[in-house]
Amino acid sequence: MLDDVVIVGAGPVGATLALALAEGDLDVAVLDARAAFETLRGDRSLALSHGARLTLERLGVWGALAAMPDAATPITRIDISQAGGFGAMQLAAEEQGLPALGYVVSYRALQLVLDAALARSRVGLRHGATVSAVGGTPAYAAVTLDEPQSEPLLALLAAVADGTGATVAGIARRRHDYGQVAVIAKVWTATPHAGLAYERFTPDGPMALLPEGDHYGLVWTATPDRAEVLQAQDDETFLAGLARRFAKRGGVFTKVTQRRSFPLAMEFATEPASARCVVLGNAAQTLHPVAGQGFNVGLRDAWELSQIVLDTPRDDVGDRAMIDRYLRARRTDRIAGIAFTHGLVGIFGNDAPLVRWPRGLALTLLDAVPAAKRAFTRAMLFGLH
Ligand SMILES: Cc1cc2nc3c(=O)[nH]c(=O)nc-3n(C[C@H](O)[C@H](O)[C@H](O)COP(=O)(O)OP(=O)(O)OC[C@H]3O[C@@H](n4cnc5c(N)ncnc54)[C@H](O)[C@@H]3O)c2cc1C
Repeated sequence: MLDDVVIVGAGPVGATLALALAEGDLDVAVLDARAAFETLRGDRSLALSHGARLTLERLGVWGALAAMPDAATPITRIDISQAGGFGAMQLAAEEQGLPALGYVVSYRALQLVLDAALARSRVGLRHGATVSAVGGTPAYAAVTLDEPQSEPLLALLAAVADGTGATVAGIARRRHDYGQVAVIAKVWTATPHAGLAYERFTPDGPMALLPEGDHYGLVWTATPDRAEVLQAQDDETFLAGLARRFAKRGGVFTKVTQRRSFPLAMEFATEPASARCVVLGNAAQTLHPVAGQGFNVGLRDAWELSQIVLDTPRDDVGDRAMIDRYLRARRTDRIAGIAFTHGLVGIFGNDAPLVRWPRGLALTLLDAVPAAKRAFTRAMLFGLH
């Protein structure tokens, strides 16, 4: 049997694509290695843009997410500053005429509401189905399961959102290792966060405090050696170091839990497609979490692909012309997301004294020049077009 679309991976990006395609009358099969209502990794905080919220609203999952306690915390203001420099800027939702600049969303909660919506939809989702390879001919894609004696699934289009793209051969990738580690943790402050997020650029790299329920989600970029020290410190020493880094911003830190760390790298497919196959989400681009762009770019991949598939006559789904339309439609936003994130790290992550002035100036100018600030805000909210 030939499906119209097989989606590999029902993480946030694959599930979004599946739900968007459920509006059409296509045969869509979704495969995911994990069990239903489980996430493979621990929880993590996703910074969701206002535009991403609109997409989740359109799919009918935002209401359920917002109704879960502490699952989606509005960011009403962002304070951006740099250690030892001059620049600082604040962005406020009300200045943009929006209820929130974005939201901090629990990955696990998002996955739960997406799984529940998929279970209610007409899309066939198979959990516990690990895909070992995705290949294609000009006529169809073949998706091989890691199950002895099982026949490959054939489809007009394979959409791979497995988080790494590991199942697809023949896609060229570029990788940049930042030589840095992100230490993440939950931290509490003496006064409630009131929706205020912080992004701070330090000599070691960027740091962020994201309001999340009754606490902050911390992302602290450090060298691998320094990260090991941070992980080993007792809570009091860790909190004192954090306060020094934030130099009075963020208020008084009172408690820290769940410290974890992971190496930071950027990886992206130079062309996220091969015969009868598109890779999207983290499988197409894994970005540094500094600008909170990763999931937002992935969600736009999923939405755009769904609209192009739904606009394509059934017999032409997955052919080269359709894939080229998708690649063209995503090129600018995708490259901008990669360049914007990489640029932020490149500009702010470098502590050569000579570049401290310009980067401080750049931040100050953004604050002082409304048009630039608006452009910057729009880029954070909706992506660059
Ligand atoms: C610590 C951290 C913080 C982050 N913070 C942010 C942030 O603030 N904002 C933001 O926008 N992004 C952030 N990101 C990125 C964000 O997590 C990803 O963009 C998002 O998870 C991508 O979703 P995805 O569906 O593409 O992939 P994933 O979430 O990795 O999902 C992949 C799915 O595919 C399934 N799968 C994998 N392999 C197979 C296989 N062989 N066969 C079948 N199924 C398979 C998995 O079970 C999983 O369900 C962060 C990432 C990290 C690591």
